[in-house]
Amino acid sequence: MTTRNNCLALDAGDPLAALRTQFDLPEGVIYLDGNSLGARPKAALQRAQEVIAQEWGSDLIRSWNKAGWFDLPTRLGNKLAPLIGAKDDEVVITDSTSINLFKVLAAALQIQAGRPDAAGRKVIITERDNFPTDIYMAEGLTKWLDRGYRLHLLDSPEELATALNADTAVLMLTHVNYRSGHLHDMQAVTAQAHARGALVIWDLAHSAGAVPVDLHRGNADFAVGCTYKYLNGGPGSPAFAWVAPRHHADFRQPLSGWWGHDTPFAMLPSYRPGAGIRRALCGTQPIVSLAMVESGLDVFAQTSMLALRTKSLALTDLFIALVEARCSNHPLSLATPRQHHERGSHVSFAHPHGYAVMQALIERGVIGDYREPLIMRFGFTPLYTRFVDVWDAVECLKQILDDKAYDLDAKRDAVT
Ligand SMILES: *Cc1c(COP(=O)(O)O)cnc(C)c1O
Repeated sequence: MTTRNNCLALDAGDPLAALRTQFDLPEGVIYLDGNSLGARPKAALQRAQEVIAQEWGSDLIRSWNKAGWFDLPTRLGNKLAPLIGAKDDEVVITDSTSINLFKVLAAALQIQAGRPDAAGRKVIITERDNFPTDIYMAEGLTKWLDRGYRLHLLDSPEELATALNADTAVLMLTHVNYRSGHLHDMQAVTAQAHARGALVIWDLAHSAGAVPVDLHRGNADFAVGCTYKYLNGGPGSPAFAWVAPRHHADFRQPLSGWWGHDTPFAMLPSYRPGAGIRRALCGTQPIVSLAMVESGLDVFAQTSMLALRTKSLALTDLFIALVEARCSNHPLSLATPRQHHERGSHVSFAHPHGYAVMQALIERGVIGDYREPLIMRFGFTPLYTRFVDVWDAVECLKQILDDKAYDLDAKRDAVT
């Protein structure tokens, strides 16, 4: 049976252990919510000081050229690209995941509409338990277009094979499910959809920086994702969008703002999309927030997704084993796949009093989060989570459950 000392030994032998020193983590906190808001790289504070004091304060408008503000979305996109199996000039960091999803979904529908067999392709397939904003954005777009597009919501991954047919325009999936942590096989699912003539959009919100992703090998068409989760870009930092190079020429997104224009400073009275991925941009970016993304990416540049994946699986395996062994007399049920190839980097357990138990954990410094229905979610971020943190978190959970030390009347805050 594993002991706390075993966990300390695992940390001592962990080749990634030193990376933790590059993050500022508060004393007395075990942070298991890096899947919702990544911890702050120490370098971000220095960077913020530079951007705000020097670039904004002293250099003022000259910074658009001098500090490279104008090229930040593509320069940082190129830094992010290797983490998701993309190449240079294929990724931009801009806007939010919701907005980028709207852009790529609209563009995908337009590409499909231009194909010879377009007439019947009116269905967008996604999952009922996809992150709600993904469903809402698709709902909003189809209603607004008013061209007979409809959503088909899958209740399980097994339904996909029969759902895909000659009516399918787009398959839009989240690679790692935000609630259960279930991981799709990108290559197999994309191939299945392509065989039916559908285009595929992957949401990598819980994948980028969490699991190895290879968009080229997976033959994906479009991808979007977050930088404020596993990539540690800071609260509300801009998201990313990727478009397969084979679609660049046909990629026309509806938010045709001047940053996506071929020659924005020619100030022409009509829109002409820029070359390549720049046409995915819309307007002026939140530079302070965007600049923070670089500090997180610089930490990733010191390791590999393969090394991170090895540690992530070891952490999630350990957590599952310890919870099941040490809290076996409590009504906890694992909502995350046991199979490695189906698991992302967070683990979810359902408990009848999940919300109250999570609040008790947070009060004791073990920070995870809660998602309806009844799900306690624990994110494992191999850049800064230690094996001993896993042990201590489970010990804390066990104490709370054994002592029933949670408040069933705990007031719900706006963010759970
Ligand atoms: C976190 C997350 C989002 C967040 O979208 P925002 O536009 O940043 O609010 C979207 N989709 C998925 C699947 C997510 O996990």
